[in-house]
Order: sequence, then C-alpha cells, then structure tokens
Amino acid sequence: MSQERLVYGIDLGTTNSCIALIDEYGKAVVNPNSEGLNTTPSVVSYESGTNNPFVGEVAKEALISDPTRTVAFIKREMGNDNFKSTCDVPENPVKVSAYILKKLVDDANQGNCANIKDVVITCPAYFGTREREQTKQAGVVAGLNVLSIINEPTAAAISYGVETNRNKTILVYDLGGGTFDVSIIEIKNGEIEVLATGGDHRLGGVDWDTLLAKYIAKEVGITIDFEAQCFDKDYLSIKNLLLLNAEKAKKALTKRNEVMVNIPYNGKTHRISVSSTLFEQLTSVLLNQTIDKMEEVIDLAKSKGISKIDEVILVGGSTRMPQVKNRVEKELSCIANIKDPDMAVAKGAAIFAARIKEEVKKGPRIGGAIGGIKDTSANSYGVGCFEKDTDKEIVQNVILAQSPVAIKSASSFCTRFDGQKGITFPIYEGTSTENDIDPLDATLLETFELDLKKGYEKDTPILVELERTTEGILKIYAEIDGNVLNAELKLNGVLTDSELKKAQSEMRNIKIG
Ligand code: AMP
Repeated sequence: MSQERLVYGIDLGTTNSCIALIDEYGKAVVNPNSEGLNTTPSVVSYESGTNNPFVGEVAKEALISDPTRTVAFIKREMGNDNFKSTCDVPENPVKVSAYILKKLVDDANQGNCANIKDVVITCPAYFGTREREQTKQAGVVAGLNVLSIINEPTAAAISYGVETNRNKTILVYDLGGGTFDVSIIEIKNGEIEVLATGGDHRLGGVDWDTLLAKYIAKEVGITIDFEAQCFDKDYLSIKNLLLLNAEKAKKALTKRNEVMVNIPYNGKTHRISVSSTLFEQLTSVLLNQTIDKMEEVIDLAKSKGISKIDEVILVGGSTRMPQVKNRVEKELSCIANIKDPDMAVAKGAAIFAARIKEEVKKGPRIGGAIGGIKDTSANSYGVGCFEKDTDKEIVQNVILAQSPVAIKSASSFCTRFDGQKGITFPIYEGTSTENDIDPLDATLLETFELDLKKGYEKDTPILVELERTTEGILKIYAEIDGNVLNAELKLNGVLTDSELKKAQSEMRNIKIG
C-alpha cells in the first residue's frame, strides 16, 4: 500500500461510527472493528472499580444493565456548555468522543497491521465552529493527526461521486441516528461543489425510537418522562430498555408489517403489537420536519440558480425506513437511491483523506477546491451593532450562510457617538442568509475590544473583515483610521492547549476495551 494513502476516514456518528481506508487497489473499504462489525455503536461504558472505558456493542448493552456508568448520543452534546452527564464518571463530550475514535483507530490498525494516525473526521453540515473544533480536539485527545473535518453529506457525495463519472446535480438526504442533513451538490469533471446545505443536528433515528418508546410505555402502563434530566439508575434503566426495544422494533418494521415488542416490567412480560402503519402515524411529524428542511435547502439552491436535481441519494441508517424513501420520492417526483447508507460517509471521508495527503505532498495550493471539493458552510458570522436609524441591537452578518467554507468578507460599520474612544465587536454565529438578523437568532462566540488612540466623531467608518479558513478557523480584522484589531477567535467550551495536553497524556495510558 502506498504511504500517502495510509490515512483513515472516520464517520463519528451519534449512534454508530465507522472507519474506512483506501485499499491497495485504490478502493475505499470499511475496516471492521475487533468484533468483526462494520459499524461500532457510539456508546462508552466504564468498568466498575477501574473506570476503564469500553466502547461499542458491549457498552450499548450496558445502557440497560449499568446505565449510570454508560454514555450514549454524546455527539448531540458537542458545543453544549451546559452538558450534564447521566453517567457517574465525570466526562465531557470531547473525551467520550476521543474514546470512540481511539477504539475505531486501534481496531483498524490491528486489522491492518499498521500504526496509522492521520485521519479525516466527518461531522454534520450543520455543526457550528465550536462543535467542529471539539470534534477535532476529540481526535487530538485520541492521539490522532486530524487532517480535516468535513461535512457528512459531502463525504457521502464524494463516495458516490467517485463511482459516477457523469456531471450532475445531486441531493443528499442524510438521516442518521441523531442528526439530519441535506446538501445539494454538483459533480462536475470529477470535482464536487456543495451548492446549498442545511439540516437539524437534533433530529435523527433516536427521535423515531423515542416516539415509539413513549407509545410502548403507555401501553405497558409505565409512567415515564423521556425528557426528564433524571440521573436515577432505575429510571435510566427502564428508559433505555424502552428505547432499545423501540429501536429493535423500528428496524424489524423495515422488513415486516407488524412486530411484537416484549417488555419485562413489574414481574411480568408485556407483549405489545406494533404495526408499520401505526409506527408511521406516530412518527409522521418527524418525517414532515425533514421534508420541510429539505424544501428549505432546495429553495436555497434555487436562489443560486439551480432548478434541476438529477439524482437523489439517501444516506444514514434511518433512511432504511421505507416511509423515508417513499416520501422523498413522492415529494421530489423521482427515484431516490439508497446505497451503502451506513458506510458511504466513512468511505467518502477516506477518499477525501487520501486526496488531501496527496496534495500536501505536492505542496500548498492557493484557492480552488481542496481534494477536489468545494464545500459550503451552513453558518453565518456577523458583528453585533446598533441599527443606524432605530438604534435597535442587531447582528450585521459579514459572512452569510451558504457561502464557501474558505472565505474572507468585509463590511463597513461606523462609530455611534461623538468622542468615541473604544469599539466593541461581539462576533455572532448563526445560520442566516440575511444581512441583518436579531441577536436572539444567533450565538455569541466572542467579544473583542479595540481602544482608539483618540476620540472619533459619530459615523466614522470602521472596516470589519471576517475570514474563515478551510480548517474552520475564524479571524477578525478591523480598522478605523489606522487603529487595528487583528485576532483569531478563541472558542468558549473548547479545551485549552494545556487541557488538551493533559487529556492526551491521560489517554495514552488507557486501553479501550
Ligand atoms: P447512522 O448514524 O447512519 O449509523 O444511523 C443510525 C440510525 O439508523 C439509528 O437510529 C438506527 O436505529 C437506524 N437504523 C439502522 N438500521 C435501520 C433499519 N433497518 N431500519 C430503521 N432504522 C435503522
């Protein structure tokens, strides 16, 4: 195998993760885990006594037997400052994700008799800067060299695009375990350009499981609040039992019209029958939400002059539900292709990773596509200020959502009053394509101050330039009459360098089970 291809592509999923590599024939292949499975549940459990983490299928089983020592769906907590774990072992989303990544890479290296550390990790297109940085940090804590973080639908399109040589516009509908993404992508002469992207990073298969689990609980006569922030072992155990049985039933319903769910409760086994019609009715609200999001992204693409979608591809385990394919086909009046739904993202990431490595070898390239990909970001970035006529607080976007990932853009602002000797630049992240938005529709990332050498009169122009690099790093350059602010955004909630080093060295001594 040639050296430059020794790099993994990793789909770090909410419910399952997957790792792939380019094999000696130049084909992307998934590396099974040490249990021989192509995907690994993204669940971490801690052995009692030692607190040694174990990851995957066995950890998933511990959700019922040992729920207060087990963590699942951690990807949903990326970027969440108020994360409260239901697990007794104090952890954070970065570290838990690092365990999952380490298990994937260690198992793949063992299978390949290799010691590969270079990786590309995927994340939902909808992830903001902090979530992306935390994903990258999880890789660093796991001892990996993260070459890039790319969007899941983009990775799926790469995997798909490599197998098709025709130029076309495709819509990728990606419904995973915890997230939903839609991207409209153009494949042209082997290069891939993302034209529009969007989604919801709190909408996925687990929400289908939850609605079915609520129904089952009601039928059995269990009173339980699925949304409660309760850390009680019995509560978590019964909740997870209901959720895992709902997931099993959901999967079975992709092949059958009716399933029987057995719930052991109060010394008795309760048998509940669930039909596919009932399941579809219970969850139709969720499917409708994905269709609304898909329409939004189609409208965004239309605003960029794209009127025709040649093909639709379905990615993510949840697209196995027949109602998803049927509904997407009905809405778009075309055939939706479902291919490799669990593995396409990891394979695409592996192809992208190999391309990046080849480019690095050739030396830096200025502009254009990276690894043959021009990706688009779902995030907007702007500066908090006061509207001139109304003095209302607004965020004036400098980088609009749906712009290329690598971008530098400038806007002008002005001083508010005579004799102003300092300027505050609150930098917000949102998902808007509008120039001016309400601060409540955006998240404050960081505030910068610029002290001026003298007092300036009202309405003196201020230039503000924001830059986002391909790595997702944000920079601000602001200038007023030779007074300059030039800084890189430090993100709240991400580990500092020393925390990162500490976590890395702790990880070195940990053997993942
Ligand atoms: P992914 O994140 O792409 O691995 O997708 C995981 C999600 O796909 C989980 O919510 C699974 O329950 C769901 N899933 C996997 N297989 C099926 C199936 N046969 N039918 C319905 N959902 C499935």
